[in-house]
Amino acid sequence: MGEIIFWTIIRVAIVIPVLWILEGYISQQLWWLVSTLSIYVVIVHPAVIHYRLFKSKNKDVLESTLCATCKNFDESAILCLLHDKHPTKIYLPCEGFDWEPKSSSVDSEDIYSG
Ligand code: SF4
Repeated sequence: MGEIIFWTIIRVAIVIPVLWILEGYISQQLWWLVSTLSIYVVIVHPAVIHYRLFKSKNKDVLESTLCATCKNFDESAILCLLHDKHPTKIYLPCEGFDWEPKSSSVDSEDIYSG
């Protein structure tokens, strides 16, 4: 996910100065059209495509691993926050020993303290 954000920022950093320079050379109406198309084609569309690829590439981890149901799992980075490692379909950094339910509204300390 960080890679998608990084390259989106790079594309924004390139497109904005180019559009700013173009403003002096083309009519205002055409500039708005070119700006809108450029932003969509160069910035938005590639980011959406990369995000879809990221989701499909990590579909197995997100849908069929123990980590996907763990509160220590960061779905946006496919990262175990506890071990700072990327789980895969066949690799769990904790081997299941540190798993904690994601949707638990009651902490285990609350249960034991009464
Ligand atoms: S603590 Fe274990 S189960 Fe939870 S995300 Fe990390 S590796 Fe996966």
